[in-house]
Amino acid sequence: MTAPLIGLTLDSEPPGKYSKTHPWYAIRQNYCDAVAAAGGLPILLPHEPDRAAQYLAVLDGLIVTGGAFDVDPALFGAATTHAAVTTKRRRTEFELALTRAAVAADRAVLGICGGMQLLNVALGGTLLQHIPDDWPGALQHEQPNPRTEPGHTIKVEPGTLLHRVTRMDEMPVNSAHHQAVKEVGPGLLVDARAPDGIVEGIEDPRRRFVLGVEWHPEYALSPGDTRIFDALVAAAAKK
Ligand code: MN
Repeated sequence: MTAPLIGLTLDSEPPGKYSKTHPWYAIRQNYCDAVAAAGGLPILLPHEPDRAAQYLAVLDGLIVTGGAFDVDPALFGAATTHAAVTTKRRRTEFELALTRAAVAADRAVLGICGGMQLLNVALGGTLLQHIPDDWPGALQHEQPNPRTEPGHTIKVEPGTLLHRVTRMDEMPVNSAHHQAVKEVGPGLLVDARAPDGIVEGIEDPRRRFVLGVEWHPEYALSPGDTRIFDALVAAAAKK
């Protein structure tokens, strides 16, 4: 059987480090390794907003990755922008176009960290712009310890896609985010929360496999993390 093609969105960086004079694309290799280990063929996606439909036509599934930037709050109707917010306009434009098209076509979609926040905004939801200021009593969601270790636990809601996929009621997860989902988009539901109540997972029950997770399952900290990639590739195979 031919491996399902799983697109992964790239990050973009200004000149410096890898290329001193030109902007460059980047992705952490463990995103791609996790897809390959689950039987998918990872395909990397440069930011071409006008060609999102053409990319989608060849993809069986999509992973929207994270990055050290935020969705422009104007895109979810916020009147002000928190000082901690940084944006990447062309990347977000591409990811919004591709994600909306993928969900509309009922492709398997997984949003990871910033990719989950993008997924929520793409489907009409809103975000907390800076957890330390917006959520009294919040845990440290920018964990000080390495991402190869858990930062907190989450509770998974029974009866959800995430629960069927991970087969775990509680999971240890890493945590590298200063934003989070505020209100889910219409029709979406929350499938996991941290002990402080911060939303850690969302899904679209109207679709076969549209899932967002706030942590980074590509680090495979628990069996549930690996099962998320297995389930994504299995759903993509049935496009
Ligand atoms: Mn967290």
